[in-house]
Amino acid sequence: MPVGIQDPIWERMWQLKLPNQTLLFAWRLCSNLLSTPSNLAARHVTFDDSCPFCNQNSVTNGHIFFDCSYAVQTFRITGLYQQISQLKRPNCEQWFRAIILENTFVSTSFFVALLSGIWYARNSAVFEQKNITPWSTVLHASRVVQDLASTSTNQARDLPELQAMNTIFQPVANAIQVFFDGSISSSNRCAGAGVYIQSSSGQFLHGLARQFPNVVDPCLSEALALREALLLCRQLDLVDVLVQGDSSIIILAAAQDSDSPSSCSPVLDDVIRMCQNLPVQKLSWVRREENVIAHNFAKFAKSSDVIETTWSDPPSFVNQSVMDLFQ
Ligand SMILES: [Zn+2]
Repeated sequence: MPVGIQDPIWERMWQLKLPNQTLLFAWRLCSNLLSTPSNLAARHVTFDDSCPFCNQNSVTNGHIFFDCSYAVQTFRITGLYQQISQLKRPNCEQWFRAIILENTFVSTSFFVALLSGIWYARNSAVFEQKNITPWSTVLHASRVVQDLASTSTNQARDLPELQAMNTIFQPVANAIQVFFDGSISSSNRCAGAGVYIQSSSGQFLHGLARQFPNVVDPCLSEALALREALLLCRQLDLVDVLVQGDSSIIILAAAQDSDSPSSCSPVLDDVIRMCQNLPVQKLSWVRREENVIAHNFAKFAKSSDVIETTWSDPPSFVNQSVMDLFQ
């Protein structure tokens, strides 16, 4: 049954800052009116009923929006997977309703934008044979929500949650993202620094792995990785970069929000000086899951036979590690 205008879910949805098209999608979803194969079959329309993402047969809304590996990957990237799956219900409409009406810890607009993105990706795969990655779906949803929040004069109810989200999704448009990570190997008595640079549209631009013999301090390995990242930016002549790492100690010290750990202060002094001379848009912390590529380069560096390795295309071990993250 279509959701009536008096329904509390609609009232709640109405308050969300979302494009009309996304709201329409949400209305169809909770009214069970999306043209999924099972719905089409109920209307005697024959249709290839397999999932374009995983090839499973007879897919339902529940499959597309929470059971399919595509949905799981999408939610995992956002860090919301745990919270969202805890609210799982016997069917998709009830699950959606529960999240919209009961949940206070998920940014509701963002959640709806994500589902709409999954639906768009599914349709693109079915009708246009176009592949949209879960990462693109997440980035697009975060942009939709942020754009609307920033153009709105009226403070949206979920803006505080959205700000928390900004620590994960910095403004990606027009910014090159630079990820760094450090790692140590006690058996090899060395540290590895990994740097991964991604274009504003999410393309792999550059990867670097550098080994530092005789460095066994984890903090120092992170500071060295950050310095490598900045050196690389200068070398590649990159402007307006967004530099991100998963070590909060190093990020805070480099942003001069806290004192440098003594083991790395000389390196961090270099970093601070370089930040002043480079058009670094922002230094920010990211979750380890989102730093997986730089992390893998750091791991590669500390066990490599050579001091420096660079990549201009993603090496296969990185693709594999990104896939593993979602198993
Ligand atoms: Zn599937």
